[in-house]
Amino acid sequence: MAVIYLDNNATTRVDPAVLEEMLPFFSERYGNPSSMHAFGGSVGRELSQARERVAQALGCAPGEVVFNACGTEGDNTAIRSALASQPEKRHIITTRVEHPAVLNVVKHLERKGYEATYLGVDHEGMLDLDELRDSLRPDTALVSVMWANNETGAVFPIHEIARIAKERGALVHTDAVQVLGKIPIDLKTLPVDFLAVSGHKVHAPKGVGALFVRKGVQYRPFMLGGHQEHGRRAGTENTTGIIGLGKACEIAQANIAHENSAVKALRDRLEAGLLAAIPEARVNGSTASRLPNTTNISFQYVEGEAILLMMDAFGICASSGSACTSGSLEPSHVLRAMGVPFTYAHGSIRFSLSRFNTDAEVDTVLAELPKIIARLREISPFKRQEGEAPACTC
Ligand SMILES: *Cc1c(COP(=O)(O)O)cnc(C)c1O
Repeated sequence: MAVIYLDNNATTRVDPAVLEEMLPFFSERYGNPSSMHAFGGSVGRELSQARERVAQALGCAPGEVVFNACGTEGDNTAIRSALASQPEKRHIITTRVEHPAVLNVVKHLERKGYEATYLGVDHEGMLDLDELRDSLRPDTALVSVMWANNETGAVFPIHEIARIAKERGALVHTDAVQVLGKIPIDLKTLPVDFLAVSGHKVHAPKGVGALFVRKGVQYRPFMLGGHQEHGRRAGTENTTGIIGLGKACEIAQANIAHENSAVKALRDRLEAGLLAAIPEARVNGSTASRLPNTTNISFQYVEGEAILLMMDAFGICASSGSACTSGSLEPSHVLRAMGVPFTYAHGSIRFSLSRFNTDAEVDTVLAELPKIIARLREISPFKRQEGEAPACTC
């Protein structure tokens, strides 16, 4: 059975052109880019080209790109660096809807004695910029706000957020892992100090990422060791991954218009079709300010896990907005922060598309999912015991 992969915010397939670009560096061209000999040095030149390609996609200088292992590393490095370079400042501002790669770092820092403010979101998943203004203090070291949310696709007004924070003297980091290839990035006009991206969210392989560090911003490396990345990130370079990320950035940049027309049209057709065919369904998050590839839909009175399992029988891959932890279903922290009612939050499914999806795949989902929801609702315990906590069935 063919897989219908609608979970591209979790990870993406490696583009065949990216794989092709990488292959020689697994075999004949295995040299260490730091070596003095020409064999290694020629790989170093390929890394320079990859750096230029990433910089081009971000609208920054190649020297402002630090290659690393993943989006999580970029987030950790930016946050820790911002605090280490301003030891007198003890306050961090972030949001309640960040990825765990930010949220769990900030929580950890709170336990180490830092103070944190978690900005809330409204029912649409959007921030209140007045709350940001009111939260900024003279000792605010860092404002770390994601550009686009991985669960709902909500896009935050990062230019305005960054301007407000910079005016008050705070450093700014943004997690742009979900943005690359979907919304144009131009760091010449976006006044952030740090920005993190990840390879496997943009059709490059897992295990490679990049952190933008603005020229002139004080930086403290996370990894200590050799002098790779001009001393900013020790460890022998993941040459294949970096070359793959470079190629993926080149393609992503060329593909942005397609993402915002063809992929968006496919997403819109999926969303409209499901809402029309299934009663008591609703979209979570702003549809006005949203990534072109993402829709997060709640189906009242059913459990996301049950929907996922039944879709799996048709090879349909998506994500649910709840996770089964210790025998009870916990709705995602993002949907909770948005105040999505509990009977809806439990039945939420995130569909995230890519340029590799087809019309036929959307047709299959539109044909099968309404039947799945109807069947689950027949056996749902929620409808009869509205308001009561459901038992875990996953
Ligand atoms: C996937 C993701 C990350 C983590 O990236 P990894 O490369 O998997 O570590 C961070 N932030 C967001 C918004 C993501 O979607």
